[in-house]
Amino acid sequence: MIHETAFSFDPGRVFIGGKWQAPANGRHLDLINPSDGSIICEIAAGDETDIGLAVASARAALDGEWGRMTAMERGRILTKIGQLVLDRVDDLALLEANDVGKPIKQGRNDAIALARYLEFYGGAADKIHGETIPYQNGYTVYTLREPHGVTGHIIPWNYPMQILGRSVGAALCMGNAAVLKPAEEACLTALAFAEIAAEAGLPEGALNVVPGLGETAGAALAAHPGVNHVSFTGSVGVGAMIQSFAAQNIVPVTLELGGKSPQLVFDDADVDAALPFLVNAGIQNAGQTCSAGSRILVQAGVYDQVLEKMSAAIAKLRTGPAVADLDVGPLISERQKAIVEGFLGQLEGSAFIAAQGQLAENVPIGGYYVPPTLVAGVEAKHVLAQQEIFGPVQVVIRFETEDEAVATANGTEYGLVAGLWTENGSRQMRLAKKLKAGQVFVNNYGAGGGVELPFGGVGKSGHGREKGFEALYGFSVLKTVAVRHG
Ligand code: ADP
Repeated sequence: MIHETAFSFDPGRVFIGGKWQAPANGRHLDLINPSDGSIICEIAAGDETDIGLAVASARAALDGEWGRMTAMERGRILTKIGQLVLDRVDDLALLEANDVGKPIKQGRNDAIALARYLEFYGGAADKIHGETIPYQNGYTVYTLREPHGVTGHIIPWNYPMQILGRSVGAALCMGNAAVLKPAEEACLTALAFAEIAAEAGLPEGALNVVPGLGETAGAALAAHPGVNHVSFTGSVGVGAMIQSFAAQNIVPVTLELGGKSPQLVFDDADVDAALPFLVNAGIQNAGQTCSAGSRILVQAGVYDQVLEKMSAAIAKLRTGPAVADLDVGPLISERQKAIVEGFLGQLEGSAFIAAQGQLAENVPIGGYYVPPTLVAGVEAKHVLAQQEIFGPVQVVIRFETEDEAVATANGTEYGLVAGLWTENGSRQMRLAKKLKAGQVFVNNYGAGGGVELPFGGVGKSGHGREKGFEALYGFSVLKTVAVRHG
């Protein structure tokens, strides 16, 4: 399938020190196409030996050409990578369609976002600087922003391009050397990115990519004593493990662990303007989105109207193979499909399925399809309203008062994103402060979007901020220099 693109990398290899090599143990894993369950190709099952080599090559890059580059030179290379990504948007979208099951237009959006991260961080590289600090007479005090050193990046399968862009892009911007462990379910675009980066002139060792299983390659990377910072996006359980690995080495971590993000629709909202956002937030990437706006809290006065309009819109949505480029693609795996169906099997009490989308005709039987599903009449403490489903399922919860809405919105363990639909300016300002979330969207819903916008969670959604300028503080260390000169 890779031969249908302009890329030439061998997916069975790891990328270390600027070279494509066989994994040290010679083992491979099957990569599955979620649209039909077929095997796409074999990928390297990298392990701790490859991780060790990758960390050593990153360290050598810091001591070599990469470490000697000026901020301007780093920025120029990142910008060039961004340009080459833009030239390959269609090829990257095709890889992602086969690998993740992402409809082509969504894969194209992800590739364009990847390019934007590289452009943004390419432009930022020589614009971040320290300060001078007024101190005692006879002193000059200033701060320097320095790279951590070797950064480890463990990313999931749902948005491989966007997540590597925001994390590796910011790390390279600050002069770190990166080791990337993509998800075993979807790693082709990470490998393609390595090919593009090399073509753009990124010095060898500045970026290393080691596909492999989480419990082997991922754990080895998070626990490696030569890694100075770990960024992880994935599940809460694995995030807790990553944090404890990093704690053994006393290194900082950035964790982005998902959510159960609410969208609050008040009686005074412009329902028609909200509708496409309400629907899209649940189906984008078949709902396999950390920041999916998957809890729709609706005030009593517009509850029936919102439910009716959402139901009508969802009933029209078509689900099918990624390359057919319909509204919704398959889920990533048989396991994920079983998890989502398991949630839908727990409807009880007042909860009921208000609407479901359609499966396209002749969807391949081996694919992992679940049509978009709207569940209404859900109590705030119901398992479907509390736990992250990671599938195209949205729940609608009715509320009467603003206080009740805030209590429900804040009433999960998560706190990633919140959406607020109201024309009342005072309420917009008041609730933007009260909602437990790392991002609040008022009269829009960005699902974490915008490369410029700092993103991250509170509570079990994680800690640390990625995206925007803010990420650059996380991917660097501040050094204070106090000079006594009399
Ligand atoms: P999901 O359940 O959505 O696949 P995970 O948290 O399991 O999310 O996976 C996200 C990333 O973490 C993937 O790259 C995966 O390989 C990696 N991973 C999984 N388990 C571990 C682990 N024990 N240590 C380090 N990384 C892991």
